Amino acid sequence: MVNFSKNKNCPASEDLLSFQTCRLTEREGKVIRKHLGACDFCSAEVEFYTHFPQPEDTVEPAPIPQPLFELAQALMNKKKDNSFFSKLMEEK
Ligand SMILES: [Zn+2]
Repeated sequence: MVNFSKNKNCPASEDLLSFQTCRLTEREGKVIRKHLGACDFCSAEVEFYTHFPQPEDTVEPAPIPQPLFELAQALMNKKKDNSFFSKLMEEK
């Protein structure tokens, strides 16, 4: 039985969707097309998108990587502690 799932070489679903809707550059498209020739799972996924077009607003946003999330949070907290807003108020 073939392992019918994505592997680490598989493009993200987003990329496959972009490929299907022709939103990739020629170079990116080439990479995906080559992958599709070798990967049944991704071929099936693109096939799926062909039959069931995904409306833009239902595409799940990519999850924010945890370190980036923490960085963003730290920056926000810093801004708060830093009295960024009170400084703005003082200037008024
Ligand atoms: Zn694949």
